Amino acid sequence: MFEKVLIANRGEIALRVMRACKEMGIKTVAVYSQADRDLKHVRLADESVCIGPNPSSQSYLNIPAIISAMEITDSVAVHPGYGFLAENADFAEQIQKSGFTFIGPDPEVIRLMGDKVSAIQAMKAAGVPTVPGSGGALPNDRDACLEIAHKIGFPVIIKAAAGGGGRGMRVVHTESALMNSIQLTKSEAKAAFGDDTVYMEKFLQNPRHVEVQVLSDGQGNAVHLHDRDCSLQRRHQKVLEEAPAPHIDPQAREEVFKACVKACIDIGYRGAGTFEFLYEDGRFYFIEMNTRIQVEHPVTEMITGVDLIKEQIRVCAGEKLSLKQSDIKVTGHAFECRINAEDPKTFMPSPGKVTNFHVPGGLGVRVDSHLYNGYTVPPYYDSMIAKVITHAESREAALARMRVALDEMVVGGIKTNIPLQQDLVRDAAFAKGGVNIHYLEKKLNL
Ligand code: ADP
Repeated sequence: MFEKVLIANRGEIALRVMRACKEMGIKTVAVYSQADRDLKHVRLADESVCIGPNPSSQSYLNIPAIISAMEITDSVAVHPGYGFLAENADFAEQIQKSGFTFIGPDPEVIRLMGDKVSAIQAMKAAGVPTVPGSGGALPNDRDACLEIAHKIGFPVIIKAAAGGGGRGMRVVHTESALMNSIQLTKSEAKAAFGDDTVYMEKFLQNPRHVEVQVLSDGQGNAVHLHDRDCSLQRRHQKVLEEAPAPHIDPQAREEVFKACVKACIDIGYRGAGTFEFLYEDGRFYFIEMNTRIQVEHPVTEMITGVDLIKEQIRVCAGEKLSLKQSDIKVTGHAFECRINAEDPKTFMPSPGKVTNFHVPGGLGVRVDSHLYNGYTVPPYYDSMIAKVITHAESREAALARMRVALDEMVVGGIKTNIPLQQDLVRDAAFAKGGVNIHYLEKKLNL
């Protein structure tokens, strides 16, 4: 096992990774920007290194600074968390070339999945269901594009192969708008991602977002850890997640689970990963793979009892996957509410000093947060300050537990979206289960 791991992240996920390392007897190194010297995990780490000024471009995204920090602390591996450099193939490559271990898949695998066209092709080859589409880059030919669109059927969506974060996509409803939309998406993609490759897919009108968690050792062994529903989103940002996804066709689910496991083995995937799907009318459609741990991983941990970060670290240290598919049993249901430092109505960020912090507790309640009384939330980074997770024997009971938990929670001094979450967990349609990805924005009248 690794002797010392550097955690190239901040906030709750840095603390989460540190907890796993400590339980495994691994020494930890925290890195932080100047604004972040008071982060909870920085105080708890065995060692800590300031890697630069407040903007993340100069600190958490600063590859040379992170590699230097690894060298001076004799770290042997780096955990990237999520966001920042977690899906940056160049970072993973430089880490490997410097003789360290990247806790994640190989750079080639990150690249394969980071390009949506190659990702879709790899998934198809493994038998993972994809969205009907061009199956590859769109040709520079009007007639050929029109033919593809008619074969798929309008509406279609034009997507940048290198796109991410909900950017580089355009829905097209009519033949007359097609070529112009392709050109616009191409030039946007070129400007934003330096790559103007675009492809075409059927635009699904009312899908849900359902994703499958996997663990794989890159040595021919992989398991799935069931699914999650993350359909409650605002501007492509997930707000509230649950596991398992409610009301899913059992046969489609079993097939997709098998295909995801096969895909992991086929691409030589190592670590924790997530296959994201749109789910509509009982069918799954692959949209992308996240080659990292995700924010919402705790709901899966609660229903399976598997510590995903520890397993991720183990397989990336070269161990064989210790879990067999038959070891993974789903018990009950779990929800996660993301708590952000923001105005619950306008969504404007609300950084500042936390004067009072009380977390909920009790059976089946978990709070992952780096906050403490007197901590100041800086304005420079993501506004998520806590995740409240509840687990119970049934969906209904887990939701009731979440209502109680949110009502108990106090974050003083700054505004948070707790009132929005309190509203969502009392929403009648959400309580039934299975709302689609447009539900939250419609509810908010956006
Ligand atoms: P990104 O990497 O930018 O997050 P995704 O491919 O994951 O891009 O798509 C982001 C979101 O865009 C999806 O969650 C969904 O809301 C919407 N979307 C993408 N492809 C389609 C599609 N074929 N039909 C309908 N909506 C889509």
